[in-house]
Amino acid sequence: MRIYWLLWLLVLNLNAHVLLAQRSGTPSFRIVPLGVKGGLDESNLSAYMLAPANSNNYVCLDAGTLRTGIQQAITNKAFSATIDEVLKKYIKAYLISHAHLDHLAGLIINSTDDSTKTIYALPSCIEQIQKNYFNWQSWPNFGSAGAGLTLKKYAYQPVIANNAETAIQNTDLQVQVFPLSHGDAYQSAAFLIRSKEDYVLYLGDTGPDAVEKKQNLQNIWQKISPLVKARKLKAIFIEVSYPDEQPDKLLFGHLTPHWLMQEIEALHSFTGKSLQQLPVIITHMKPAGKNEEKIKAQLKAQNKRNLNLIFPEQGKAFSL
Ligand SMILES: [Zn+2]
Ligand SMILES: [Zn+2]
Repeated sequence: MRIYWLLWLLVLNLNAHVLLAQRSGTPSFRIVPLGVKGGLDESNLSAYMLAPANSNNYVCLDAGTLRTGIQQAITNKAFSATIDEVLKKYIKAYLISHAHLDHLAGLIINSTDDSTKTIYALPSCIEQIQKNYFNWQSWPNFGSAGAGLTLKKYAYQPVIANNAETAIQNTDLQVQVFPLSHGDAYQSAAFLIRSKEDYVLYLGDTGPDAVEKKQNLQNIWQKISPLVKARKLKAIFIEVSYPDEQPDKLLFGHLTPHWLMQEIEALHSFTGKSLQQLPVIITHMKPAGKNEEKIKAQLKAQNKRNLNLIFPEQGKAFSL
């Protein structure tokens, strides 16, 4: 009897090693988080630079905080360049999930000193940027359309949800966009980014399907499941804003550890055990009180699919 147990353990162990080997290998992407939090700390709000490995042609996923994050990354030796070089030369384009300030403030404030580039977003998001920010009232119009004189620093590139891939200018990256529901009839977006054969999924703010009464996440899970099974999806960036103590009626279109793991179960129903050790990067924790520690502990306690949970830090680069 004991010998069977030993053999069984050996098989399990081998499986784990094979999984780890498949998950490691040569990295496909490099990520430099410029801001990781979901509120309060204006020097550390959602913004993630992403490039193919060994490239300096980055896209910036959301742009809540730019300058402080770049400074921090330089201090940590993630870049050997000046702040201006990183901002103007390394960031080739922005992908904005939605027009809330915690995803956009860094872009607006740095627009005077930025280089010309393209903003990719859903049409509804581009419309809000035009109407609410680059309108000569909140700020000069640095956009390519909208109110008054257009300074044309940023070319607006609306991307239609669920369409085919769009090439991201001046990078070797492609993007596909999916709609998300972020509270009362408000639309946010998820970006599926491809470099050669490999993918990363970045989700902007989102509530769970069950609370939002939508199928947006379900549709995304179905769409990406073949990539998970084929080990081509290198990571999922997803928000967890509040700890489990937050009542559903006060989620305002956000996730908790419980609701994230419910969504992971939905994904698991398509992928089965190929989810094991998938890097899931937890974004957008709202830092009130001891919430961040609570969220981390609750996620670890509910991680029954053995995800590789990653808690990104401002200015600390990593590869996937
Ligand atoms: Zn947000
Ligand atoms: Zn938001």
